[in-house]
Amino acid sequence: MRPVEELVTRARAAQPAWQGIGFAARARLVKRAAAAMLADHEAILRLIREESGKHAIEALMSEALGPLDFVNGWIKVARPELRRRRLAIPLPFRLLMGKRAELERVPRGVVGVISPWNYPLGVFFKPVFPALLSGNAVVVKPSEHTPRCGAWFVEHLQRVLPVDVVQVAQGDGAVGRELTEHVDALVFTGSVATGRKVAKRCGERLIPVSVELGGNDAAIVCADADLVRTAAGVTNWALHNSGQNCGAIERVYVVDAIADRFVAMLRSAFARLRVGPGADLDVDVSPMNNAAQLAIVEAHVADAVEKGAEVLVGGSREGLGELAYPPTLLDRCRHGMRVVDEETFGPVLAVVRVRDEQEAVRLANESRYGLNASIWTRDVARGRALAERIDVGTVSLNNHALTGAMPVCPWSGTKDSGSGVANSALALQVFTRPKTLLIDTSSKPDPFWFPFDRDLWRIGKDTVDLLLRPLAVVLRPGRLLRFLAAGLRRPKTIRRFFADDGRQPSNRRRSARP
Ligand code: NDP
Repeated sequence: MRPVEELVTRARAAQPAWQGIGFAARARLVKRAAAAMLADHEAILRLIREESGKHAIEALMSEALGPLDFVNGWIKVARPELRRRRLAIPLPFRLLMGKRAELERVPRGVVGVISPWNYPLGVFFKPVFPALLSGNAVVVKPSEHTPRCGAWFVEHLQRVLPVDVVQVAQGDGAVGRELTEHVDALVFTGSVATGRKVAKRCGERLIPVSVELGGNDAAIVCADADLVRTAAGVTNWALHNSGQNCGAIERVYVVDAIADRFVAMLRSAFARLRVGPGADLDVDVSPMNNAAQLAIVEAHVADAVEKGAEVLVGGSREGLGELAYPPTLLDRCRHGMRVVDEETFGPVLAVVRVRDEQEAVRLANESRYGLNASIWTRDVARGRALAERIDVGTVSLNNHALTGAMPVCPWSGTKDSGSGVANSALALQVFTRPKTLLIDTSSKPDPFWFPFDRDLWRIGKDTVDLLLRPLAVVLRPGRLLRFLAAGLRRPKTIRRFFADDGRQPSNRRRSARP
């Protein structure tokens, strides 16, 4: 057996007992592991710094601080959803025919989690915690750029959870491919190109998959925005994690009326942010994670400059350390430039000047991506109206992508950003399948069971009339009585038929054609 298959086989053997201990016990154990992660945060901060070069404050605030809070949030979301519950089946089935139906959410079995490198710890929270709380075993495949962070996360769970319930598969894309072959459900977070391959294979295997892919988020700055706060918010969401964030603002549409003032504010801020090693607390923007991503950023900026963009700040790595790229502000950008059309995933913000908000919405939607967007305005009603027309998974007014850290809010996208839903009760679909239980307490056979006869035909026809023209049946007592009498006779007819052991000569007609 190949190593990944063996991991999944072991996880599959451990899963039933994990499911069997029940939600409360699972929640207690996952919470204990998350608390241990939080207590050990110094170690993960060191690993994140070593493996990704990320800024210490960013690593602390958006990753190391998160596990316990995330688990607590997910317990609140999952507890009511995973409880067995009664379904509101139609009244006649309930009251006249003695049925009830219940819904249970059953874990899929072994969930595979394939993750990127941009949040070496945080990327695991959204898929792994709910997968475990739902009763699944999990096999995690971290990015080959950040394997030790993945191992640290899994080890903390392994110390507390039963053996083999959670495991890690280390390696490159081939390991991810192999995992896709064996698990019962898969959550993939990463690029569009890989996401497509993974989704295709999961489709062939008919296993549920959630793909959360890239983004090229737009921000729209309206004429009435609080420009100082907006400049701070847009700068933060463009440069946070050196722009290596699927929910980073990559294009900002600024209406002409305030464009000069707003762009001047951005320019001044971008120029004063300090670039340097992530361990240095007196630095704002840390280096990129890897050379391949840095090359994409440089290519996008070069393409924009060639097509007429104006570099207001940054745009050159000269004098900077390894993998460092400066905060870069490009003005006069337009669609057709790679910085506007594609995902740059670096500390680069493209300014697109527009006539008005209507043009901004139209252009924001002209994208192959649809993850987040934001609208910056003092007028909430107008902002809400614009938000309704934007084609993305999450729109924020006067903020951006903040909901990603809130287990109660669905995190999802449209178009090339993928169809996956992370967080919220809606995300449980990939971790659980619905299982319905029907309980029949009636002593009578159902009236539509064999044998067929004219009574059943009448019941069917009268039901059509009852549904279409109820008064026509109810206001004609003769017809109503005939309907009810047929309904009462049917169970007796069926009982007589099945109680007949064949010794009585049958007096049924051969044909009950109407
Ligand atoms: P990739 O798609 O290159 O890799 C993602 C993961 O898939 C890695 O673990 C990778 O392994 C693995 N992998 C590679 N090839 C295969 C394969 N054929 N089958 C299965 N798994 C495979 O993405 P990046 O790591 O470069 O991450 C950056 C991307 O992630 C960006 O586009 C970003 O927008 C997106 N992202 C989306 C988020 C969202 O919530 N929507 C959140 C965070 C990032 P290895 O690294 O070892 O090659």
